[in-house]
Amino acid sequence: MSEFKLNICHIYPDLLNLYGDTGNILCMKKRLEWRGIDCEVTGMSVGDTLHGKDHDLFFIGGGQDFEQKVLLEDAEKNKRSEIKNAIEDEKVFLAICGGYQILGQYYKDYEGRQLDFMQCIDIYTIAKGDDRMIGNVLFTCDDLGGETIVGFENHAGRTYLGDGVRPIGKVISGYGNNGEDGTEGAIYKNVYCSYSHGPMLPKNPDFCDLLLEKALERKYGKIVLEKLHDDYEREAHRVMEQRLQAK
Ligand code: GLN
Repeated sequence: MSEFKLNICHIYPDLLNLYGDTGNILCMKKRLEWRGIDCEVTGMSVGDTLHGKDHDLFFIGGGQDFEQKVLLEDAEKNKRSEIKNAIEDEKVFLAICGGYQILGQYYKDYEGRQLDFMQCIDIYTIAKGDDRMIGNVLFTCDDLGGETIVGFENHAGRTYLGDGVRPIGKVISGYGNNGEDGTEGAIYKNVYCSYSHGPMLPKNPDFCDLLLEKALERKYGKIVLEKLHDDYEREAHRVMEQRLQAK
């Protein structure tokens, strides 16, 4: 499959990288290279002007409230309109926790201060008090026929989905979007958002391949990725799934 290549944009790699989120980039890169598909990763941080046409897949990791505030001015000036256009143009995105939140309408912190975020997808987030949602999380993935996703979450924000946005699936163990409506994650067009740190993708290889296939299909047309020898990844998933289902 050497005729194929994916250009991945890593947005704010230095500011938004909590709980190993950069491992998602490594996972996508390796699962492409193991199939002979070239992959180029470009970091876009503060001061860099993002051009959506240059990339096929975008990743934004998690961050503390402080980092989310620090990057807002740059996001508005150098990234927001191109990100919004790329989303509407069906480019693939994976956004984790803080990166998930900043794509939405606003974030109200636990002192009630509202930060208007990039307003690219119809979600909003409210931090209630200073109690955080922390722990391992297990939830279903509707786009994988109900297959589970395992991960780790640590967030104060409770995220609520608006019109045209559907969840990745239902929480089996843990909090998910807000600890109230039983949902986890958000999907809008080809934007996939989750509170799942860990990093998310290595222990959920089918979800990683779902994102890669969508990005490749949008660029080259229908494609089926060959199976990999990923028994270790699947065993890691099974162990965590079993542990969390038993809770
Ligand atoms: N600062 C956000 C919150 O606390 C996101 C945290 C994160 O990315 N883990 O909800």
